Parts: sequence; C-alpha cells; structure tokens
Amino acid sequence: MPVDLSNFSQKELHEWINKFDTILCDCDGVLWSYNTPFPGASETVNTFINLGKRVYLVTNHSHILREEMLAKCHKLGFNVKLEDLVTSSYVTAHYLKQIGFNKKAYVIGSKELGKELDEVGIEHIGIGQDNLDCDIVQYVMKKYELDENVGAVIVSFDANFSYIKLCKAVNYLKDKNNLFIATNGDRYFDFPKWNFLLPETGCLINAIECGSSRLATIISKPSTYLCNVLAENSPPINPKKALVIGDSLRTDIVFGNNAGYETLLVGTGVNELKDVEEIIEKIKSGDDSQETKKLLPNFYIPSLNDFHKKLME
Ligand SMILES: [Mg+2]
Repeated sequence: MPVDLSNFSQKELHEWINKFDTILCDCDGVLWSYNTPFPGASETVNTFINLGKRVYLVTNHSHILREEMLAKCHKLGFNVKLEDLVTSSYVTAHYLKQIGFNKKAYVIGSKELGKELDEVGIEHIGIGQDNLDCDIVQYVMKKYELDENVGAVIVSFDANFSYIKLCKAVNYLKDKNNLFIATNGDRYFDFPKWNFLLPETGCLINAIECGSSRLATIISKPSTYLCNVLAENSPPINPKKALVIGDSLRTDIVFGNNAGYETLLVGTGVNELKDVEEIIEKIKSGDDSQETKKLLPNFYIPSLNDFHKKLME
C-alpha cells in the first residue's frame, strides 16, 4: 500500500518534503474542480514555492492557453508564473519543434492548440468546423482531397469533431511516414456539479485508431516527452528529487513511474485508495505486468487540505 502521509507527524512531513526539489502537480481533481479551488490547495502549492521548490502545474487539458491558465491560477490564489504552467497542447507543439518536424500538420483539435503550433512555427490545417454538406458518395467522388504537404495527424480535444474529420485523419494516416500523435489520451472530463461526463481526446483517438489500424503516440502524461520539453528552459530534472502529485492513476501516477519520480495520489479526483487496493489485489493474484505495477503510487493523502493542515499543526 502507498504510505499514507496523514499518519506522518508534522516533522516527518517537513523532512519528507525536503527530499524533493521539483514538484509536478496535476490540476483538475488535485487543485481544483473546474473553476472551484479545493481548500488548502493554493496554500500547499504556495508553501512549496516559498520553500524554493521548482513547481510545475501540469495539465492534460489541451484547450486552454497557458496565459488563460495563469489568469485562473492567480484568481484562485496560486502564486505561479507562466513558465510554471504546462498544458498538453504546449508540450505537443514543443515536442514537434524538438524533433524538427517541418511539414504541415492536420489537426483535430482546438484553436488553443493551433495557437501553440503557431508559436513554434508549425503550419497546420483542420481546426474549426468541417461537416458533410452533400451525400457521402458525392463527397468521396468529387470533393475529397488531401493536402500532400501534411506530415502528421495531431489529435486533441475537438468539440467540432465530425465524420469528415475522421475520414481525413484516417486517409492521411494511410501514408505510414505521416506521424500519428495525440496531445493526451484522457477518456472523459467529469463535471460532477452538472452530473455530466464530457468525452475527451481518448474517444477521438480510438475512432481514428480503429479506422487507420494505427496506434497514436500520446505526448502528454503518462508519456515522459514533457520532461524533455521542460528541459528546454530549465536544468534537467533529477528523478531522485522529483515528486508527481495527481488524482489519476492512469495518467499522473503512471507518468511519475515512467519518469522514475516519486508519486503522491490525492483522493479528491478520479481515483481513491480503494482503486489502489484493487490493483494490489490484482498483483497478489498473479498479475505481475509492468503495466499494472506502474499504476501504484508511493504515497497517498486524502486531500491537499489534509496535507496543508498537517504542515500547519
Ligand atoms: Mg486530474
């Protein structure tokens, strides 16, 4: 079982924090739920910053600009700077820049992703509405055409996702030289206040993977490409001194384990301690796959409010 930090004394908790110089913290489900901050969250993050830790707020959210995220953080009391904020669109654009991608991208995604691509000088097409305006057979025979300069299909959250976009993505991917990448693989975004699940990028990836018989490379958490992107402007992260805080086992905790960082599960979002117990049971019953083991966090705290209260005891 992960070590429950709520059993630590204040002194033990301070000693524990001192082990880390870099903290990568997820946002939704850890710091806030949509626009409502969790009690103790801003105090905890600000304490890390005041202690001199390098703090990154890392979200798989792709349709928010970092400038907008900064305004939100400041409104909710987090004393962070623009360079501390990482979105999956930002990571994807910088990943493409780092690998020297110099063709055009066909993008299923938001205008915010488009802006991140613009900032690193990557040409793109596809953002916005693209709907069928004739019979599908007529479309195939008369209107269907692909841009031969496209060298990648990028998939992300797209509220304008359509059958025509699916057709185009699948057909661009017939050329095996064309990259197939996705900002994130999240399945849904939960709006508990409205009892609504918003299907996320993972659902769109599945449709395109099914049609193209290819697998997308996911750039943001749980992949570790973002570590290379962060190293663009900062010294490389020392894995022994890095901590990932998150609420999702599949994204945050697997990311931390992939990167070799310590991991802390916070019980205010997607997963709870009982999910960890289920994984441990699976392992005990003989599942010793790395895939399953990577879901296990090192530490647990019910909420950042518990963390903050313990620090202030
Ligand atoms: Mg989360």
